[in-house]
Amino acid sequence: MPIQKLSPDVAAKIAAGEVVERPASVVKELIENAIDARAGTIRVEVIRGGKRLLKVSDDGLGISADEVPLAFERHATSKLTTIEDLFQVKTLGFRGEALASVAAVSQLNLITRPADQTTGLQIRFEGGRQKALDRVGAPGGTIITVENLFYNVPARLKFLKADATEMGHIHRIVSHYALAYPEIRFSLFNAGRQVFQTSGSGDLYDVLVSVWGLAVAKQMVEVEGKTERGITVYGYVGTPALHRGQRDYLVLFVNRRWIQDKALAHAVAQAYHTFLPVGRHPVAVLNVMMDSAEVDVNVHPTKAEVKFRESGAVFTAVQRPVRATITEHAPMARPAQVFGGEEGRWSGGGHAGDFNRAADLGEWSQLGLEAQRTGSRGEAFPLEPADESAQMPPLRVVGQIQQMYVIAEGPDGLYLIDQHAAHERVLYEKLMGQKEAAAVVSQRLLTPALLELTPAQAAVLEAEKEALTAVGFELEPFGGYSYRLLAVPEMLAAEDLADAFLDILTEMAEGAVPMARQTHERVAVIVCKRASIKGGQTLSSKEMAELVRQLEQSQNPRTCPHGRPTMIHLSAYQLAREFGRH
Ligand code: ADP
Ligand code: MG
Repeated sequence: MPIQKLSPDVAAKIAAGEVVERPASVVKELIENAIDARAGTIRVEVIRGGKRLLKVSDDGLGISADEVPLAFERHATSKLTTIEDLFQVKTLGFRGEALASVAAVSQLNLITRPADQTTGLQIRFEGGRQKALDRVGAPGGTIITVENLFYNVPARLKFLKADATEMGHIHRIVSHYALAYPEIRFSLFNAGRQVFQTSGSGDLYDVLVSVWGLAVAKQMVEVEGKTERGITVYGYVGTPALHRGQRDYLVLFVNRRWIQDKALAHAVAQAYHTFLPVGRHPVAVLNVMMDSAEVDVNVHPTKAEVKFRESGAVFTAVQRPVRATITEHAPMARPAQVFGGEEGRWSGGGHAGDFNRAADLGEWSQLGLEAQRTGSRGEAFPLEPADESAQMPPLRVVGQIQQMYVIAEGPDGLYLIDQHAAHERVLYEKLMGQKEAAAVVSQRLLTPALLELTPAQAAVLEAEKEALTAVGFELEPFGGYSYRLLAVPEMLAAEDLADAFLDILTEMAEGAVPMARQTHERVAVIVCKRASIKGGQTLSSKEMAELVRQLEQSQNPRTCPHGRPTMIHLSAYQLAREFGRH
């Protein structure tokens, strides 16, 4: 193919793709613009996960009539003039790309009026082409409506997830900006129904309550720190008793910009070292305020990554006050195994696994549960087809390494089995078998657990209620976003079932389980992940033998329900070759 210059239309779509990945990226850009325009109130309205419609209204400065078309040109910005400005950015926007990008891949309508002008202006774009420009009456501020995102980029449209998943991403963006700007009143509407709001009181604690609920906020304490070099850190961190299975309860801002920075997140996680169980993550909201010349925000078009000139100084500035605060609030600050004692899943806890306990219903009484068999109706479940060639031979367990892998010997060589993946497979087939036989075994809680959900979690719960019931959960609404957990799948042997359930909900909100074809299948995968033995657990020989025996009986023993391998096989031939015997 000869070299040719891309047409402006194609170039615009490619450029837009860097900024706008999904509806939530549009919301992020529009919220940032509203904040830069010093809005006091920001309202976000969403229909069908933002695929059909997104509307962001603010009461900020507005755009003066003569500048409106210019605002939609690529690299047009009021926030930066010289290249030096780029090295001390004080606004959230600076690339002058968002409006042009969003307009290129949607049908966009903007109405704006600065406070000192009497009439407003309305402009309309379709696929990047200006379609209308009219004077209109308008409230002070800016209202942007984005309809049919990616209608002209079908390849992108295909990558969007279910409405509920996209809504979850939007909810996350809105709540994170609300955490960064407690003085701004945020509200979020899904199909006309308000799902989130903050008061704009300026108090971060109030926002914590709105985002994660009172139960979580109550377990968080304020952090403040300042270094000699003028880096200040403030926010809230969870006490060691509060932890989650997912990382996204750690929200970080630099100069009030929400960032995703693995190294900085790691620095915070390190501050919790020995305080949290293995595989669990802290809950924290932290804002790092520093000289804008010390941080490069122009790393990626989405502006979600930053580079620090001296990262070590920033990490210390964050880690020190966080560590000091948690130590203060953890009177039993000793190695991790003293905390909680959640079914022995602690580093070095050396406690036995629970996979065979789940089968032994006698144990349940100790956990405040009683066994109950519930017949669930519903269509027969098509199990994954069994792959005959994937069957495994009977194995003899040799031992365990790294508290993670079981070593076993088979008729043809060595097997390394991932204990977590293998147990996930065993539990998954057990649960699916029960579902198929319409005999899902659930455990009724003697005392129902009260769940205080965030609006986002409540939305997922409502959307997936049937699937949750199908695998053995029983829930009842308890006013507002509260629910009572009445029963759980038999295999979920956690001590804190409410906590386990929240982890499951969070994971459900995150979407993709590639192998799952139906919703309850997906829920089952997530439940089994939570219920299975983890890496970091020492298993007795009896437990290992039992795990291997159950795996042998599985239909598809070689992969976990996520599709990852459960075992690695080194044949006698491979071993001989490696040792140079051939
Ligand atoms: P950037 O934010 O990087 O400058 P954008 O494409 O997002 O680029 O916006 C272009 C310009 O339009 C901004 O610099 C700002 O002057 C103006 N603008 C956009 N949104 C708003 C808004 N909600 N209120 C006031 N001005 C806005
Ligand atoms: Mg912008």
